[in-house]
Amino acid sequence: MSKKYGIETQLIRNQLERSHYKEHSVPLYLTSSFVFDDSESMRAAFAEEQDQNIYSRFSNPNVTEFVDKLVLLEGAEAGYAFATGMAAVYNTIIPFLNAGDHILSASSIFGSTHTLFTKYLPKWAIETTYFNGNSLDELEGLVQPNTRILFAESPTNPGVDIIDIKRLGSFAAKHNLLLVIDNTFATPLLQQPLSLGADLVVHSGTKLLDGQGRVLGGAVVGRSELVREIYLFSRNTGPALSPFNAWILSKSMETLSLRVYKQSESALRLAHILEQRGEVSFVKYPFLASHPQYALAKEQMKAGGNVISFELVGGKTAGQRFMDALELFSLTANLGDSRSIATHPASTTHSKLTDEELEKAGIGKGLVRLSIGLETFEDIVQDVLNALDKL
Ligand SMILES: *Cc1c(COP(=O)(O)O)cnc(C)c1O
Repeated sequence: MSKKYGIETQLIRNQLERSHYKEHSVPLYLTSSFVFDDSESMRAAFAEEQDQNIYSRFSNPNVTEFVDKLVLLEGAEAGYAFATGMAAVYNTIIPFLNAGDHILSASSIFGSTHTLFTKYLPKWAIETTYFNGNSLDELEGLVQPNTRILFAESPTNPGVDIIDIKRLGSFAAKHNLLLVIDNTFATPLLQQPLSLGADLVVHSGTKLLDGQGRVLGGAVVGRSELVREIYLFSRNTGPALSPFNAWILSKSMETLSLRVYKQSESALRLAHILEQRGEVSFVKYPFLASHPQYALAKEQMKAGGNVISFELVGGKTAGQRFMDALELFSLTANLGDSRSIATHPASTTHSKLTDEELEKAGIGKGLVRLSIGLETFEDIVQDVLNALDKL
């Protein structure tokens, strides 16, 4: 589609060509395989001389539409979609790793990614060294001759720290590493890691891309030759996104801009209000002037995203009490949903960590993470303030 259109127009209008039924909204192509007119066209498709769907583990029209929208948003050359964000992370890194290779990863990463790196990859002698995203000076000392991948997320979860992606990009280029950025929290509307030097960008589509808590999905985008490696590997490991989930995700992308900017606006307004409260010792939100990396956030992101974290003075007891006093917010592990969500990491996702580990991960016992949804702003604020009043 012509570049003269705005991003919202492209996300809405960049869709599959109509079938002979001339449908206005793209239909769902629930089919496992595709037929050929003759043996020659089948041969040509298998030889990749002809761009044609063969089997939905390789490609499917609905999946292609979703990938195309993401490629467009990230300013990438190519992409491939997966059943989940974790399938995206795993199948993105593995094709580039041999036994004995090494990963350098930011310490603040998604829990399952951390488990994959720490518990499973060592089975194939692939070790990971973690670095603190707030002190990139230490990177030079951690890189090894066998380091292949540099991995990070920004903003981080649940600490909402900002990592300097451009600096990671120059470091990766200097040491010939593949920089992989998990861009789930920011979405490509707010942050485009490829333009900052990343080689590959992975997503959990489960979060803001769907944005309504309905489907699981994931994707990777980047340069064609890198994505091709991932595609060829994934054709054989089989983590493909289902056409149905891709269809949902493609429709969701039509409203992505409306949702993400509205959620970011509500999150920023609520963050300002939380800063004024005595029960709260600090609030972390990228676009709050008090954020330690505020200037970097402004440079790297177009808005602050929908996640706020704040520390309650009363510690763990206050954290759990706050959660129980909420009426509107959902207590659930997901995020990026149209419904506002609260989590208390110290009693849930990070409950197995020792006090020392919690401190190292920058997670206070009274830390609460909010994922701001699309409800009426006044209702969101009221619910949070009422819960604070009950502490
Ligand atoms: C949720 C999430 C994932 C994993 O995605 P799934 O779709 O749940 O597999 C990976 N990275 C980040 C940052 C996430 O928030």
